[in-house]
Amino acid sequence: MVTVAVPRSNRPRRAPRTEELASGDLERLRSGWRRTETRADGEWSVQPMSASNTVKGYSCPGCGREIPTGTAHVVTWRTDGVLGEAADLEGRRHWHTACWSIRR
Ligand SMILES: [Zn+2]
Repeated sequence: MVTVAVPRSNRPRRAPRTEELASGDLERLRSGWRRTETRADGEWSVQPMSASNTVKGYSCPGCGREIPTGTAHVVTWRTDGVLGEAADLEGRRHWHTACWSIRR
């Protein structure tokens, strides 16, 4: 029996473009809502919002520009805030998907 090498993932090595991030969000929407990301400043819940769920505009804290109505984006909030989950949710912010992905 011959062991066949499993092909590597076909993920592109270059930085993903915005369109690819958007389709990735669609996959996340299908596979379940929220995910948790660990950043330098703590743990964050990240919930993708589909374009059809975006019924009002938001201001993105990453770039300071508007997220227009009908634009898929992400909502994020801390999961480790000292004031508890309700306060964390109260402090949630809407980000352009790309702006969140490059945030440090
Ligand atoms: Zn932005």
